[in-house]
Amino acid sequence: MDCLFCKIIEGSIPSKKVFENERVLAFQDIQPAAPVHILIIPKKHIATMNDIETEDGALIGELFLTAKQIAEEQGIAEAGYRLINNVNKDGGQVVYHLHVHLLGGKKVGPLLAE
Ligand code: 5GP
Ligand code: ZN
Repeated sequence: MDCLFCKIIEGSIPSKKVFENERVLAFQDIQPAAPVHILIIPKKHIATMNDIETEDGALIGELFLTAKQIAEEQGIAEAGYRLINNVNKDGGQVVYHLHVHLLGGKKVGPLLAE
């Protein structure tokens, strides 16, 4: 499948990994928008949030549990952070493999992008 994040999961495109298990991968965003900018993705290819099914519920929950864990490890849990999931064109989605952005390490603005 011609998917950038599937290639990162396979390892054919390198990434700076932060966390990995059988279901979830987290890695540094290549173009950080904040001092902490980590992408958390399912290893299962799901293109967008529009494509999740009821049976993906535990997996989606695990993305958020992973975000919580990484925020603690990065030392930003108390100060706070933002989780973002962009969906399709109007949501600003560029890579069509579901991902949650974890942003923190500074006070993020009211909106990241218009
Ligand atoms: P989206 O706009 O789809 O929500 O976010 C895609 C994110 O993927 C962007 O923040 C972008 O910087 C990041 N990104 C794009 N290509 C690469 C890459 O090759 N490696 C990494 N680590 N991040 C990437
Ligand atoms: Zn993919």
